[in-house]
Amino acid sequence: MKTAAKIYVAGHRGMVGSALVRRLGQAGYGNILVRTRAELDLLSQVATEEFLKQEKPDFIFIAAAKVGGIQANNSFRADFIYQNLMIEANLIHGAWLAGVKRLCFLGSSCIYPRDCPQPIKEDYLLTGPLEQTNEPYAIAKIAGIKLCESYNRQHGTQYFSAMPTNLYGPNDNYDLANSHVLPALIRKAHEAKQRGDKELVVWGSGTPRREFLYVDDLADACVFLMERGVGDGIYNIGVGEDVTIRELAETVMSVVGFTGRIVFDSTKPDGTPRKLLDVSRMRGMGWQAKIPLREGVALAYRDFIAHHGG
Ligand code: GDP
Repeated sequence: MKTAAKIYVAGHRGMVGSALVRRLGQAGYGNILVRTRAELDLLSQVATEEFLKQEKPDFIFIAAAKVGGIQANNSFRADFIYQNLMIEANLIHGAWLAGVKRLCFLGSSCIYPRDCPQPIKEDYLLTGPLEQTNEPYAIAKIAGIKLCESYNRQHGTQYFSAMPTNLYGPNDNYDLANSHVLPALIRKAHEAKQRGDKELVVWGSGTPRREFLYVDDLADACVFLMERGVGDGIYNIGVGEDVTIRELAETVMSVVGFTGRIVFDSTKPDGTPRKLLDVSRMRGMGWQAKIPLREGVALAYRDFIAHHGG
């Protein structure tokens, strides 16, 4: 990527998109193209194709997606499959029509089979049934990966997919009804401390294991892959180790300074038992995550206080 290249970041106001814009800026890329949702409706094929034909970006990062935690995925199943299918089909097909050669699509670790061996290798995609709570989202994201692959095969494009593990960081969603576990626990621990509560309610059994990646590490990995010129394939982006939800809650409580006890709400689902990515492909290419969990939680908590705290 030349620093003068025109780079379109779809979804630049989200957690991943905003981290990409930050990372690209730091790396000296000065020609970043963005559009708000009001300016460009990515659910509209006509609007998206017209925009891409007009702007003809050299590179695209697709960070636009409908995302949410276990409850949101499970409740708004139609929204998750429909919106993600539309956004990625419009952008990937539109990119090809506009002659865009290089594109980075964002997948997710939750699209691998529910019960696949751990750590999860890229090759395990489509080798077994999916976790039910987020199956519609997963199917849409798998379709996005297959779109990239298929356009590469048929049309000679160079579209690849980055597969991040659970992400957190600035611009995360802290709405308890539809957020992921890490931001939810930051908010709950902060509010429990403010109220002087004795207990923190954690959903499920606390035994599922999850891996957490600070979003700036993901942005760094995506730019790294684009700069290296990978033109195909899928790349797991993670830290290479996981923690139980109970351990995560303890880390968050310690960063926030909440000293009460944890109570588990067994009426809420656990979801998939474990989701740890095998990151040897990226390590083999010389890339590794840099921000450890505790440091990342402290950075995220600082951002939470700045935007939602008080
Ligand atoms: P998942 O990784 O797709 O399952 O999505 P989440 O990040 O929403 O949930 C991960 C795990 O954390 C599940 O086992 C949840 O039950 C558990 N969890 C514990 N407390 C919470 C909470 O307050 N919010 C959310 N979203 N999950 C929680």
